[in-house]
Parts: sequence; C-alpha cells; structure tokens
Amino acid sequence: MPTASLLSLSADELAERVTALGGRAFHGRAARREVLERGVLDYAAMTSLPAALREALSHELPILAGRERLRTVASDRTTKLLVDFPGREGKDPVETVHIPPHDPASEKGATLCVSTQVGCPVGCPFCASGLAGLSRNLAAHEILEQFVLGRAVGPLGRAVVMGIGEPLLNLPALTEALDAVHDEMGMGARKVTVSTVGFPDRLRRAARSEPRFQLAISLHTADDAQRDELVPAMRGVPVEEVLAAGDDWFEVTGREVTYEVALLGGENDTPGHAERLARRLRGRRCTVNLIPWNPSPELPFARPRPGQPEAFREALAERGVVATVRWSRGLDGDAACGQLRHRHAGTA
Ligand code: SAH
Ligand code: SF4
Repeated sequence: MPTASLLSLSADELAERVTALGGRAFHGRAARREVLERGVLDYAAMTSLPAALREALSHELPILAGRERLRTVASDRTTKLLVDFPGREGKDPVETVHIPPHDPASEKGATLCVSTQVGCPVGCPFCASGLAGLSRNLAAHEILEQFVLGRAVGPLGRAVVMGIGEPLLNLPALTEALDAVHDEMGMGARKVTVSTVGFPDRLRRAARSEPRFQLAISLHTADDAQRDELVPAMRGVPVEEVLAAGDDWFEVTGREVTYEVALLGGENDTPGHAERLARRLRGRRCTVNLIPWNPSPELPFARPRPGQPEAFREALAERGVVATVRWSRGLDGDAACGQLRHRHAGTA
C-alpha cells in the first residue's frame, strides 16, 4: 500500500501527524520548508525542529515516498533517475532526467525533465513511453518529489515537463505540484515548460487557470492525416484547431507558444513538410523546436539523414518561421524519451 510521506500529506494532515508525535503544528510546516526551500533530505539536519521530534519523524514519516532505484550517468553528465514509489516497487518506476548545462563552468543550473504519468495513453507510434499504454497517473507529491530528487543531483535552472506521460491528462496533480515548485521551491513560472499534444478544450481551460508554466505543443506535422497517425489519441482533431488553441493561449496568457516537431527520417522531415508547416505557422508569434528522433530498437522509425534537420530549419527560416534543432543529450545513458523505464520495467 502507498505510505504517507512528508510531501504527500496536506497541511492539515501534516499538522495532525506532527502533533501526534509530540511536536507543534508549525513544526510540520517548518520541516516541509527545510525540504522544499533548502533541499534538506535528512531529519537529523533539521535543526529548527526539537531533537525528540526529529527522532520520532525519522521513524514514523519518510521525507519522500519515492526511492531512487537506478541511476545512469551518460558521458555528457546527463543523469537519469528511476524512482520507485511504495507498494509499486519494480512495477511502474518513474523517470526523471537531470541535464546539466553544456559548459560545466556555467552557473545556469541544469534542466530537469519530469514525468507526469506512468506510461502514456496517447500512443504516438514513435515514442517508447506509450508502448504499453497508461499504467496510472502520478500523484502531485510524486511529481513534486522528482523536483526534489533532481535538485539533489545538482542545482536546477529550469524544468521541462517532457518526461513520460501527457501532462494535460493529469493536469490537477501537475498544477498542485507546480504550485509548490513555484511558491515553495522558488522556481519561476517562466523556468518551467510543459509539453503537450495540445487537446484544444483542455488547453483553453488551462490558459484561464493562471498557469505557472510556459507551453510547448507537440505538433509534428502540418498535415491532418499524418497527425492522426502520429498522435492517435487526437485523431479527428484538425491541426488548425490545435493552432487556434495555441493562439488562444498566447492571447490569454501573453506567453508565446513553442511548437515541437519530432523529426522522423523520411516521414515528416522532407522539404515539402517544412514548407507546409511554414505556411501554417507564418504570421504567428511562436518558435519551433525540431527534435531529431531518438531511436528505440522496438520502434519502426529512422533518424533523419545527416543535414536534414538543419535543412528543415533553414526551409522554415526562409519563410519567416524561427526554429531550433534540439539534439538529445545523454544518448549513451539511455536518454531517449521513455527508454530507461521501458528497458528496466519489471526487472528488479
Ligand atoms: N506527452 C507530451 C510530453 C512528453 S513527450 C508530448 O508529447 O508533448 C516530450 C517530447 O518528446 C514530445 O515532443 C515528443 O514528441 C518527443 N518525443 C517522444 N519520443 C521521442 C523520440 N523517440 N525521439 C524524439 N522525440 C521524442
Ligand atoms: Fe505520450 Fe508524448 Fe509519448 Fe505521445 S510523445 S506517447 S503524448 S509521452
């Protein structure tokens, strides 16, 4: 059974638990502050709490519910964590990736890539995360704990919600976690980017709920029929409707949208695809991220040919659409999206 942790309890539950252990209600808030503000992960080091309470808490209430099960570090220092939650050991680990800046001397801090679901129900055929469908939604504290564990690897500059899962299908938990990341860990809303396939109705609602994040929409193609294939859960939703929801986001929040295209060799990376995408996006205040596909042996796609991502970028630029090619980091450490979990699920 899932057990409680310091971060899984609501404010009232925490006050009650701490009082039952002989402390005062505010000690619970103080302990949470130690973890979220200062990154303290050991009750013994929480000197603002009475010694007897620290001792009791260390036996009765784990700080984090999650336990790091596996860590892989790539040659570029990208660190991937597989985290288990109690009651589910080995069954559905959660994946979090800590990507340090290219320049080790940089003080920018790392980018943390966070998951929102175990598995994914959207079923994009080029993505390993969705191979076995959805196992479950993560709870808010399970999302928040990824930030805490990631910061323990090294200082964070920003976060991208681009790990396993579709964020708009678990938005209440994600919102609760991001509120804590913003208010208690001190990471600004502009430092957090949420990537989604862009369900229009959900996006319009999210835009109106004071989102504390930047938006990236995984578009992949300007062609309706091809998008139906590449994003099966959105079959029948025309590309233009997704773009209209992106325009609405910009109008309501004042923040520009990034469109993402996973470049699949020979599928959506030709000059014709670039031209049609440019035609759709021209005149919109947005940027495009081109992500050359990360191979997964079990998936029937190919990386773009050398030079193709750059040619695609130039074809967009010539038509007035700003784009960047994002090469993946940490490939030798199982970095491709969803691969670590997929490879190690059920193997412990
Ligand atoms: N479900 C959300 C967020 C997680 S996926 C979404 O789809 O946006 C984050 C990004 O990684 C998406 O743009 C997705 O298309 C891309 N992606 C998934 N698998 C990939 C792969 N093997 N290679 C390159 N990009 C991939
Ligand atoms: Fe899910 Fe995103 Fe992977 Fe599609 S690309 S299966 S939406 S995680």
